[in-house]
Amino acid sequence: MIGAGQLARMTVAPAEALGVNLLLFAESDQDSAAQIAPHVVGDYRDLEALKDFAKKCDFVTFEHELVPIAVIKGLEAAGVKVFPTSDSFQYSQNKALMRQRLTEYPAPKWKLINDGDNLLDFPFIAKSISGGYDGRGVWKIKNHDDLDEVLNEIPQLLIEELVEFDFEIAVMVARSAHSQAVTWAPTQTIQSDGICTSTISPAPKLSLDLAEKAQHLALSIANDLALIGVMAVEMFVKGEQLFINELAMRPHNSGHWTIEGAKTSQFEQHLRAILDLPLGDPSMVAPYAVMGNILGGDKTDMFRPYLHLMARNPDLKFHQYKKEIRKGRKVGHVTVVGENLLELTEVIAHARDYMSGEIDE
Ligand code: ADP
Repeated sequence: MIGAGQLARMTVAPAEALGVNLLLFAESDQDSAAQIAPHVVGDYRDLEALKDFAKKCDFVTFEHELVPIAVIKGLEAAGVKVFPTSDSFQYSQNKALMRQRLTEYPAPKWKLINDGDNLLDFPFIAKSISGGYDGRGVWKIKNHDDLDEVLNEIPQLLIEELVEFDFEIAVMVARSAHSQAVTWAPTQTIQSDGICTSTISPAPKLSLDLAEKAQHLALSIANDLALIGVMAVEMFVKGEQLFINELAMRPHNSGHWTIEGAKTSQFEQHLRAILDLPLGDPSMVAPYAVMGNILGGDKTDMFRPYLHLMARNPDLKFHQYKKEIRKGRKVGHVTVVGENLLELTEVIAHARDYMSGEIDE
């Protein structure tokens, strides 16, 4: 797996259980997953370094979207089995290509601009075409001055109609080389300042009809793009309409709940899909699963809060990424599954705030 952040870290346990030897290509020995799993250290933009790494592997996959597409193609040309393939992966890396490729799917109105002439009505959303994450690389543009400011920094932009959505969802889908495909229950993602703070599965405000439609869309996109692996399809929900926002072809924050909340987690499923094994059952083990991201705050001791939180709620499950604590950085998450959604969301909100030091009781 290229990348050794928290997504790779959470892939270690299922790989171990399946008896799959997971080797990581890390940026540093201190990366979240490099601390606990065999790895080599190198630059993921360096084709020769990745070719050497691939010699030790039967299959190569990714936990982030940063490996340049030319490098992925270089690996493929050298005969390395890379999943998802560059043909699929490009749509996850490049928002403009994704919009062009998915014109038959419901989406916000969009345009590509490199000057101010060809606009949508203000206000609209501007996005960098690649490299954005956690809302970095997304701007709300209210007037020409806003636009000029962004264009000064980033000469080519994707601009999109600002969708006044009711809420956001993500559908995780997995597809294997044998074209077997499954989806998990659609998840509501709750964001603050562009960062996902919590998720609720299944998305409680989504009608059954729309949930089915969202799952069909995700399966259909996975099939059209010949995905091998797992993918998050992020969507906006407005009334009875769905809009595709973006794709992420890797395990995703909106699927962390599947570790405790589903019969097969996104991490295990990703391994099954790329190894072309039959996929596992994605159904939920409880009516609801709620996940909260722990963002770096004032508390740097991440163990002391366990005492209080574990005593308060024995159902709460903790995941720490062992990343250096920085303000606003995702450093772990908590999940709880059960029947009473109100109670579950309260438990998660409390645990998140307590872990990051915002409350002290
Ligand atoms: P990133 O790659 O940083 O995750 P996204 O494209 O998912 O960027 O955008 C981040 C957030 O910005 C979305 O979760 C959503 O809240 C908001 N957003 C993005 N596009 C639109 C849009 N067309 N209309 C309204 N809000 C949007």
